[in-house]
Amino acid sequence: MPPVLPADNHVHSQWSYDTFGRVSMVDECQRALDLGVPAVAFTEHLDFTNYGPGDAIAASGIKPGWWDATRPLDVTGYLASIEECRHRFPSLRILSGVEAGEPHLFAGSLGAVLAAGPFDRVLGSLHALAWEGRQVNSSSLFRILAPADVMRRYLAEVAALVKGSDAFEILAHLDYPRRHWPAGAGPYAESDFEEEYRAVLRALASSGRVLELNTYSPLASVTLLRWWRDEGGAAVSFGSDAHVASRVADKFRQAVEIAEAAGFGRGGDPAGFWRR
Ligand SMILES: [Zn+2]
Ligand SMILES: [Zn+2]
Repeated sequence: MPPVLPADNHVHSQWSYDTFGRVSMVDECQRALDLGVPAVAFTEHLDFTNYGPGDAIAASGIKPGWWDATRPLDVTGYLASIEECRHRFPSLRILSGVEAGEPHLFAGSLGAVLAAGPFDRVLGSLHALAWEGRQVNSSSLFRILAPADVMRRYLAEVAALVKGSDAFEILAHLDYPRRHWPAGAGPYAESDFEEEYRAVLRALASSGRVLELNTYSPLASVTLLRWWRDEGGAAVSFGSDAHVASRVADKFRQAVEIAEAAGFGRGGDPAGFWRR
């Protein structure tokens, strides 16, 4: 029997504002079934463009909203699609979820949406950094700052995010701007930022949470996952970050090899996290 792939815990459907009509949850479920993925979690973007009660960003004076495409999540419509797909694909485990952007800055707004759930998988993610009094896409800072400074600033903010929010279970794409590392800056070396990575991993591990191996970003190395183990990390989640059906579970075989080489393996539940 071929090895069973892990669950894809990070997929976006038509309910994420940045899929722009290119994708349907039904097609992504079909793709997951075709590939033999045991479970798929639809973790739709949950980003806020205004201050709400209980949001730390309000006191900071930082202007929210880093992308004009951002739209609110239609929780009712989304959950109806989840139910429809569960009926249509009974042999696939379909999990609900959100990808909460900057959860440490929007605790109040995020809490209100999560209370309207049920959400099986809550990812925490950092896309935006503060720059000159407003939130901007972190990758846009490569045009302004030295590349290493962008990564250090980003990883420091991820550590603050982990320490400042307990609303999420899985830390998504921990080095997101790496996707846009400038070609002229030479090859990206995780080891240049070992201290900063370890600070993130330590905070995540000490709160008993889960590190995502994101296969849309350049794949994490075995060494990085060993740092995760060293710092006490116990569980790994696989996420394709697919925004089109053809990318569901993309590069999962390579990701599995990396996780295994770092000492993580599947548990009893085929849809569960991989553990040390
Ligand atoms: Zn993301
Ligand atoms: Zn995502």
